[in-house]
Amino acid sequence: MEYFVVKGTHDVILDEADAYTSIEEILRSHADSYGFREFRTPIIENSQLFLRSVGDSSDIVRKEMYTFLDKGNRSITLRPEVTAGTIRAMVNNKLFSNQDFPVKAYYTGPNFRYERPGLGRYRQFNQFGVESVGADSYLRDVEVIELAYSSLRLLGFNDVTIVLNTLGDEETKENYKKALLDYFKEHIENMCSDCKERYNLNPLRILDCKVESDKEIIKDAPNMMDYLSAASKARFENLIAILDYLEIPYHIDPTLVRGLDYYSESVFELHYVSKKGIDYGAIGAGGHYSNLVGELGGPKLAGVGFALGIERLYNILKDDNSLPTGRKIDAYIMPMDEKMNKTALQFASVLRINGFSCEVNLEGSSLKNCFKKAERRGATFALIIGENELANESVMVKKLKTHEQTEVKLDNLIEYLDAASFEDANLDEFEEEKIIN
Ligand code: AMP
Repeated sequence: MEYFVVKGTHDVILDEADAYTSIEEILRSHADSYGFREFRTPIIENSQLFLRSVGDSSDIVRKEMYTFLDKGNRSITLRPEVTAGTIRAMVNNKLFSNQDFPVKAYYTGPNFRYERPGLGRYRQFNQFGVESVGADSYLRDVEVIELAYSSLRLLGFNDVTIVLNTLGDEETKENYKKALLDYFKEHIENMCSDCKERYNLNPLRILDCKVESDKEIIKDAPNMMDYLSAASKARFENLIAILDYLEIPYHIDPTLVRGLDYYSESVFELHYVSKKGIDYGAIGAGGHYSNLVGELGGPKLAGVGFALGIERLYNILKDDNSLPTGRKIDAYIMPMDEKMNKTALQFASVLRINGFSCEVNLEGSSLKNCFKKAERRGATFALIIGENELANESVMVKKLKTHEQTEVKLDNLIEYLDAASFEDANLDEFEEEKIIN
């Protein structure tokens, strides 16, 4: 009997796993440079957390959550997103009483949604996201949008489209919902069953419908922009003015409503089509939330955040041939005979403690095969230990790029490798410059 992954899940292994790590490291260190700090919250949460935050009119809560009773009869859910858990952690740990505002968090890890698997859509997928919580200014929204945009630039996405909308404040939402109910009243009988449910639960969601015949009806629905309160209108105009000032391109789509109930005011999605023309769906999305912290038992504070889908980033970078460079090792150690194995292990240990990554050939492979393996691992140096070297307490170091080789005494090995690595990095930079010029 052979076992396979559960539908909608996938193994992330070897080069793909290396690429995920590199992508996440770039995103983490960039968020870190804005003062965001890491939050690692549990993957299981009490189901009520998501009913309260993501909202019982959302597709996620209605159809997609992995919910089960644990042995203590508690209703537990595998998190479908990380914002709710992050805010819960901020409230539980009383971060709003003793931290400067905004409290800035970033996270990375898996989420679970029982969706129909498809291109760029999985049932277990990874997100990197941030939350900036406790300050209501539209400038904090701008900061987070700018972070999303520059993170993607840093990863090599040069033509990101930011789709932007405002849902307005509570007053706006209520007035707009009434207008939508009025408009859809005479159409709803002819719309899909999902829209019928949305009509009763949250008519804003109807705008998100992907059914072609419904889209025709939605096209003429009242425009959110006409229902904005004066405060929300001014807030959105201010936000746009700063985006213009920072030369961050965006495109306003008044039908963008997002799938989670907690958003108000500005919401956005990030899109990018791979060079092969493949659209994996939004690569990221986010927005402002005015009531979420209060809803989850904290003070009445606003926040703003976004999440990027790591699978989608990876797929596009792979299609575009722009994945961050794969894993390479510094040295490949080649003992020429069984009796040199223990010396090789000893060298490897000294190298690793001094910050050099290395692998040892312990399989007795021929010198030719050892060099092939070193090349496949992208090693900078081959370290050969033969009879002579063993007798001299030395090692033969071969630079794999230039084929230069030097016998180095064990006592001088780290110093030698430090200098040679520096030279090698300069050589790489020189090569890069040549390519650019
Ligand atoms: P959301 O939490 O729905 O706002 O989604 C934020 C981002 O997570 C999306 O823009 C996608 O990049 C990613 N994402 C959401 N759902 C999935 C999924 N089922 N499979 C893969 N990525 C997803």
